[in-house]
Amino acid sequence: MDKPKKIKVANLPTKIQKLERLSSFFSDKDIYIKRDDQTGTELSGNKIRKLEYLVKQALDNGCDYLITCGGIQSNHARATACLAATLGIKSLLVLKDNGQKTNGNYFLDNLFGTEIKFITQGDYDKNRIDIMNNEKERLEKAGFKAFVIPEGASNGIGTFGYYEAMEEILSQEKELNIKFDAIVTTVGSGGTFAGLFYANKINKNSAKIIGINVCHDVDYFKDEISKILKASFEYTKEIINFTKEDLSIIDGYVGNGYALSTKEELKFISDFAKMEGIILDPVYTGKAMNGLVQELKKGKLKECKNILFIHTGGLFGLFPKENEFEF
Ligand SMILES: *Cc1c(COP(=O)(O)O)cnc(C)c1O
Repeated sequence: MDKPKKIKVANLPTKIQKLERLSSFFSDKDIYIKRDDQTGTELSGNKIRKLEYLVKQALDNGCDYLITCGGIQSNHARATACLAATLGIKSLLVLKDNGQKTNGNYFLDNLFGTEIKFITQGDYDKNRIDIMNNEKERLEKAGFKAFVIPEGASNGIGTFGYYEAMEEILSQEKELNIKFDAIVTTVGSGGTFAGLFYANKINKNSAKIIGINVCHDVDYFKDEISKILKASFEYTKEIINFTKEDLSIIDGYVGNGYALSTKEELKFISDFAKMEGIILDPVYTGKAMNGLVQELKKGKLKECKNILFIHTGGLFGLFPKENEFEF
């Protein structure tokens, strides 16, 4: 199939390793993790896989300014600011103001020399696309050619980042001589899930793609992911048939809300770090891995023996939460 072209900046392929101690708690499960937290240092996490495709489009269109949006600790915004610096072009981030302008990704955004525009939560929810488009016009009047990247880089072309990751997993299955019954990912804006699902179907692979949402709810994401997938078909002309029932997303692990942590979630992150030597993040992977473990404890996913969890990154979002941890 003819996929869109991309730039190559991420450290790929990322390794797959077994979670030995976690697996040993479940008599009939082998749980693995794919280290997409190691796609880069500054560029780490899942967003760079999607940005490789979006930014190729931007550069091909002669753009010299990237505009995107996110929460103040957005991993996506940080990866975009870093990528702009890597390429020697400029960037502007439209960030939700939560009054905590310190540390973590926000600190790195400033190191990368990006321009930051703060907006309120209400404006973010209702007007972020208009606000980014207005900034684009303003920059164009100043002689730049700007490219707007949607939240989480989750759009038709961004999907190919995780389409490619799924193909990477299929070839790693051969090398490792393992067949994954389930591939589990966090769902934050839906692009990661969409890419895995699309490639899984096109390759007629039997794995179950499972998402665990960390904001909104299942209905919201079934709509979003359907929209993203349909936009992706425009690039390849390869349509897959699916219904909303085919999109398996497990709700119930949003906790106190997006980017808000419960004591249990933070305890899970520190227990997991001790047990496996791997750091999860509080906004995405900590909630999703906790969700997966809770589901397995409840006896769910019975039919799945080999389970692969995608570590989508988020390390820098942990540091602003340091004072919420109890040791
Ligand atoms: C953005 C993000 C996700 C969610 O991925 P989507 O493709 O937006 O659903 C998961 N984990 C981390 C660390 C992220 O930054």
